[in-house]
Amino acid sequence: MNYELIDIGVNLTNKAFRADLDDVMGRARDAGVRIMIATGTRVEASWDAYELARKHPGVVYSTAGVHPHHASDCDGKTIAELRDLCSRPEVAVVGECGLDYNRNFSPPDVQRRWFEAQVELAVELQLPVFLHERDAHADFLAILQRHRANLPAAVIHCFTGTGDVLEAYLDLDLHIGITGWICDERRGLHLQEIVDRIPANRLMIETDAPYLLPRTIRPKPKSRRNEPSYLPEVLQVVARSVGRPVEQVAAETTATATAFFLNGIQQPAS
Ligand SMILES: [Zn+2]
Repeated sequence: MNYELIDIGVNLTNKAFRADLDDVMGRARDAGVRIMIATGTRVEASWDAYELARKHPGVVYSTAGVHPHHASDCDGKTIAELRDLCSRPEVAVVGECGLDYNRNFSPPDVQRRWFEAQVELAVELQLPVFLHERDAHADFLAILQRHRANLPAAVIHCFTGTGDVLEAYLDLDLHIGITGWICDERRGLHLQEIVDRIPANRLMIETDAPYLLPRTIRPKPKSRRNEPSYLPEVLQVVARSVGRPVEQVAAETTATATAFFLNGIQQPAS
């Protein structure tokens, strides 16, 4: 292949990868995935992701945040710990944070409180933020609207919503992450219709591995575990959907992800 990709959302510290992470990372490299952003979903997992990034300089960067599912675990020390993590050059952005009312593993009011606290941290540090939203569009938008003017950048990772929701996010000048959801003939085909509304400088791709194995991969993998080496499948379907050559979409999404995740690493917050 003649492209170099950035997987902007991969849960490399998930226990699904514990036994064979080196092989997983080797296959990613062989598939053209040059950089992986390891998602931090809890304070402890964010430390693990940071350690992984330290072990693989220039290949793995990490995020520091608390996923809405785990909002109930937050306490008076959470934001200070995330601030500490974000002072390290390997930690690219704040997140994963947001709202998820699909399963409400944490109560909605607790989710809102800690989502806003993390957005405020990103504003304080002038870092981009990596966002998760599921079935919580109105409340999510309300919180983001309050802070958007002071946030340098924000990406909705694993976007799965409708065209109207997409337009609302683009109106707020958000970046959009597309996963293998777009390959899912049961629930993701609408994404193939609307992904061309995302400007190239706002569009990025991700696997969200070990979740969301692209259903279009042939031959079908024996394991249901997704991994970053399958990112080219997302690239192919996105490229076909937007009607641009694969190499072009690869270059565009990599340039967009480099600007989003890696610029801040060289530049101290102003
Ligand atoms: Zn997520």
